[in-house]
Amino acid sequence: MRGIYHSHSRRKDKPDLVYHGANLLGENSVFTVSLAQQKVLSDSTIELQFQRDDGESVVFVPGQFFRFVFTDVDGEFERSYSLCNLAPDTTGILMLVISKVDGGRATRLLFNTECGLKASVTGPFGRLVLPEKLPKRLFLVATSVGIAPYLPMLGPLSGPLCRDEIEVFLLLGVRDPSEFIYATELVDFQRRHPRFHLRICYSRRLPDSPRSFEGAGYVQDYLPAVVPNQDLVMLCGNPMMVDVCFDKLKQAGLPSRQVIREKYVFAKQAAVKPPSALSAEQKRLIEEKMQKYRS
Ligand SMILES: Cc1cc2nc3c(=O)[nH]c(=O)nc-3n(C[C@H](O)[C@H](O)[C@H](O)COP(=O)(O)OP(=O)(O)OC[C@H]3O[C@@H](n4cnc5c(N)ncnc54)[C@H](O)[C@@H]3O)c2cc1C
Repeated sequence: MRGIYHSHSRRKDKPDLVYHGANLLGENSVFTVSLAQQKVLSDSTIELQFQRDDGESVVFVPGQFFRFVFTDVDGEFERSYSLCNLAPDTTGILMLVISKVDGGRATRLLFNTECGLKASVTGPFGRLVLPEKLPKRLFLVATSVGIAPYLPMLGPLSGPLCRDEIEVFLLLGVRDPSEFIYATELVDFQRRHPRFHLRICYSRRLPDSPRSFEGAGYVQDYLPAVVPNQDLVMLCGNPMMVDVCFDKLKQAGLPSRQVIREKYVFAKQAAVKPPSALSAEQKRLIEEKMQKYRS
């Protein structure tokens, strides 16, 4: 169910082969991209559209992230970014939504760049993906650009929502109304899917006329009364928010296997590690998967 975005017909009926960050076909993609478009979304966020230089499509499961190696005046450095592509990729586009960090190296480069900026990209990675068997209720919790991985999930969730197979709650925490990014798309999605419920939490300032789904406070104040063995909660964004929510959910009795977390932790240092070679054990596991795939 989780869906997989790519255009290689060989893999169309084998969604499990690209999963959980490790591409089990052993083809962990490395490619170069160029910045094709940039858009200011708010004072603190921008949307960047990178295009693969080789014209291939981008293979990823909605929710996954890629590692980008950029070059600035001090040399190369790496940062991770989730793809926020709302539509399945067929043309090699990687959409990113990026938040400004004071004194940040990537921030300095990406908020002051021009189209044509190059990067080397590896991926996909990450386990923040929809499970094969969807839960009855799914809670997607994010702060700011932590919304990114949930945007590509909306397409695959649309069918199950329309068929009443699932109820989805999206809790997004932002500072003020100007930071409610992708508002048009999210409000429209809610209008078209009665079982999709939006909750926007403003930590600093509410809109002048808040709508029914807008309230003051933090996402952790709006966590649901969870049902163990039924609900699935995804947490993404600010590491502090992720920890606070996780603790609250645990205290409320939700087993940790029903929570998937992705913290937007920042890079420790700028050094770029060369991609590590596969160990003998990893190669053996991949070969095993390949055998199963072929049979
Ligand atoms: C799996 C994953 C996915 C990610 N996806 C996204 C994404 O989709 N969009 C996005 O904008 N970011 C995302 N990030 C974070 C991103 O990789 C960078 O860390 C972020 O853009 C900051 O980079 P920078 O070079 O500007 O700041 P840095 O140069 O890394 O940091 C500059 C200074 O700011 C501090 N700092 C850095 N980040 C923060 C922060 N969040 N809060 C408080 N202090 C901080 C650091 O301690 C440092 O002192 C993701 C991270 C991970 C691990």
